[in-house]
Amino acid sequence: MMRWALLLLLLPAGLASQAAEPALQVEGVGEPVSMSPAFHRGYAAFPAWTLRTLGARVEATRRGVEVVLAADTLHFEAGSPFFTGSGRTWQLVEPAYREGGVFYLPWQLFAHWLPTTFPDRVSFADGRLSLRATAREAALAGGDPPPGAAAAGPPQEPLGHAARVPVVVIDPGHGGEDTGRVGPGGLKEKDVVLEVSHRLARVLAERGYEVRMTRTTDTLVPLSRRAKMANEWRGNRPGLFLSIHANGVSNQRVRGFETFFLSEARTEDERRVAEMENAAIAYEMPDRVVGTEDLDFILNNLRNDYYVRASHTLAGLVQDQFTMFHSGPNRGVKQAGFLVLVGAFMPAVLIELGFISNPVEERLLGSASFQNRAVQAIADAVDRFFKTQSDLWDAST
Ligand SMILES: [Zn+2]
Repeated sequence: MMRWALLLLLLPAGLASQAAEPALQVEGVGEPVSMSPAFHRGYAAFPAWTLRTLGARVEATRRGVEVVLAADTLHFEAGSPFFTGSGRTWQLVEPAYREGGVFYLPWQLFAHWLPTTFPDRVSFADGRLSLRATAREAALAGGDPPPGAAAAGPPQEPLGHAARVPVVVIDPGHGGEDTGRVGPGGLKEKDVVLEVSHRLARVLAERGYEVRMTRTTDTLVPLSRRAKMANEWRGNRPGLFLSIHANGVSNQRVRGFETFFLSEARTEDERRVAEMENAAIAYEMPDRVVGTEDLDFILNNLRNDYYVRASHTLAGLVQDQFTMFHSGPNRGVKQAGFLVLVGAFMPAVLIELGFISNPVEERLLGSASFQNRAVQAIADAVDRFFKTQSDLWDAST
C-alpha cells in the first residue's frame, strides 16, 4: 500500500457560495467555450476530458481515469475523493464519479488544485475558471481541437465527436494452419468467417465507418496481436471490435446463433466455446495449454472492464438482429474468457454465426444469401450501437 500523504483542500466560505454556479472557460486553438457544470451528485463537476485542453492525455482505467499532464500522472477513481499525483495522495471534499459513461471531476480540482499546480495555465478569477492550452499542446494531445471548436451544439458535447469517424475492427477467426471447426461437408470455419468479414467490411464502409480487418487472407494472426492492432487503429476515436466465428459441437443436431462478450464463463457450454476459440493459442505457443487458471488471471486483470456493459449491450443488439432472419434458435447473449477479446480497449464481442457442425447450418453458412443477411444484421446492430452509446467515448480516449 502507498503511504497516504493527505492534503485537505478546504473551501474558503466565500468560494463555497460561488461554487453554486461556476463556469469553466476553455481556451485552446479554437473559439473559447464556456461550460456549465454538471450537478449529478449535488455538487459542481466537469468532465475529465476538458483537461485535454491543457494538453493532458485522459484515458479510462479499470476504476476511473488516468490523466497524464505535464509529465505527471494523476489517477482518479469513481466514488473516491482521493487521487494520486506527484507521488502523493490528495483529497478533495467531494468524490469523482462516472455518470452516463462520462467521468466527472469535482469543480474543486479545477478551482484549487490545478491553479496551484499549474499557475500559468489554469486560473480562477471572477467566479470563472480558465483552462488555456497552446495550439501546440492541443495538437500534442492527440490532434483533437478543444471542446466546441469542431463540434456544433452545446459546449457539453464531447470534443470533436461529430468529426471523428467511428472505427469498426472486424476479426475473422482462425486462419492459416488453424482451420477452426470443419463441417461434416468439409466447409472450414476459417474460410466462411473470412468471406463474411469481407462482405461485412464492404457494407460498413458504405455506411460511413472506417473498417479494419485483423486478417484479409488465409493467414494466422496471433490472438494477442489482434486486440493490439485494434487499439492502434482506433486511436482515440469511437470504435468496436467484432470477432466473427462459427460454432461446432460433436452433436450434429445442435443449431443456432449466439454472441459472446468478454467476462467469466458461468456455464459449461460457455467454457466449451471459450476453449474452442482459444485453442489457436496452441499455434502460437506449442508447449503451452491455456488452462482455467490462466483465464482467471486474465479476467482478474481485464483492461477493457470499462467496456463490459457496452459489450453486453452490443451483443444483445446483434442477437436481436439475427432473430429476424436466422432459422436456428436464438441461443442468447453469453459470456466467457476469450483471449482474442482480452486487451481490446473498446466494446468487443465474438459472434458465433451458426453451427458449422450441423449439416443444415453448414450449407447456410456457405451460401451467399445467408452471408449477406448475416452481414446486414451485424451492420444494423453496429448502427444502433453507435446511435445509442456515443457517450462511451466522452471520458476515455
Ligand atoms: Zn472460431
